Amino acid sequence: MRKKSNFGSMMVTVVFIGIIGGVVYLYNSVMFERDVPKIEIENAGYWNLRAPLKINIDDASGLMEYKVTLKSGDEVFELANEQFLSPQGKQTLELKTPKRAYALKNKEVTVSVEAKDASKWNFFAGNSASKQITLQIDKKRPYVSTIASSYRIIKGGSAVVIFKAQDDNMEEFYVETNFGKRFKAQPFYKEGYYVTLIAWPVTTEKIFSAYIIAKDSAGNVTKSKVPVIPYSKTYKYSRINLSDNFLNGKVSELAYAYGVEDDADIIGRFRYVNEDMRKSNEDVIHELTSKVSDTKVNNFPIKKMYPLKNAQVVAQFGDHRVYSYQGEQVSEAYHLGLDLASNAMSPIKSQNPATVTFAEENGIYGNMPVLYHGLGLYTIYGHCSTLMVQEGDSVRSNESIAKTGRSGYAMGDHLHFGVLVQGIEVRPQEWMDQDWIRKSITDPMRQARKLINQR
Ligand SMILES: [Zn+2]
Repeated sequence: MRKKSNFGSMMVTVVFIGIIGGVVYLYNSVMFERDVPKIEIENAGYWNLRAPLKINIDDASGLMEYKVTLKSGDEVFELANEQFLSPQGKQTLELKTPKRAYALKNKEVTVSVEAKDASKWNFFAGNSASKQITLQIDKKRPYVSTIASSYRIIKGGSAVVIFKAQDDNMEEFYVETNFGKRFKAQPFYKEGYYVTLIAWPVTTEKIFSAYIIAKDSAGNVTKSKVPVIPYSKTYKYSRINLSDNFLNGKVSELAYAYGVEDDADIIGRFRYVNEDMRKSNEDVIHELTSKVSDTKVNNFPIKKMYPLKNAQVVAQFGDHRVYSYQGEQVSEAYHLGLDLASNAMSPIKSQNPATVTFAEENGIYGNMPVLYHGLGLYTIYGHCSTLMVQEGDSVRSNESIAKTGRSGYAMGDHLHFGVLVQGIEVRPQEWMDQDWIRKSITDPMRQARKLINQR
């Protein structure tokens, strides 16, 4: 009897633990989860009734239904109403209003989202959630207008644009080219006006266009073409045959110094220097020269640049170099600066005041100072022997910043002089020509100030 009674109570305990375990299991299982669906409405504040409403709905046990409605005064628009036969994962919605809603005159609308999950909680009824937001209606597009610009832009070259951009709920504006580059503008002269330098990359095709694009937080967008005339230009194309002597010289020295494996063949070493190293060194340059300040600009009194006195041009900007070895094409690159040579270790000077943003060794560019002249305009100086400035220094006009040399990927003593506009290499020749600077940059800015004063 005693044994049986012990056995009985043991059974009761086992069943009891089993029930408790089952309840705990169910209580914690996804099937019986108690969290309501998560509803996220990305739109906030202002809306133009046309931009899509971006809504995300998610739930751990899956979703069984959702509904989105738009209310304005007495009018109600059902934007979505879905009921599923089986639980669904995260719903990412981009809902548009029916055309007849565009005509709504009310100053605000209410967006309501309801959702129900697949949980068996609440006696199998599941968990429901709802969310409501009120949006102010703003159907007015941002005002954008070009005040003045350079008359033309040459392939590989620079130009300036001065424009007005205004909106009560402005979110962002910039100048975008057909190559996808966005140029950030700085405030210009008086409130509501902006200025930016733009550039046409030398490595691109024979077309160019630029638009001022302004977006407000209601989803209204204005796109206005910059009236600058593109002039295509043909740049040098060089076929270069690589000799064993050349490949085993400085190229291999650089490849080994920067960690290429010893067993890489001579063409592998050349490609490493000409492609991989070039890419990472140019990434550094592009990153350094993409920054633009937010300070107000009234004018841009830049003087023509001639970094090296009595210099000869030894390689052109924009030269497309295609390399062959034993009759087979093996690599290519664009030369994105102007090579100038004078006596060895000649002083390099900046004719314009600047801030030093970098003064270090940069792979194939060797010892390389980078100067910032304002308005997104930078200059770089490659292959230097000695650096005479440090990052953060302010440079006065005609101050020596470095001495020429053959550091990095350079066969003889020379200066690789590069000019960049917001991270894009441009024709140094333009910035070395006072007439071009006046006609293309300072005159349009003067004209813009005059037109703004007349308003
Ligand atoms: Zn060069």
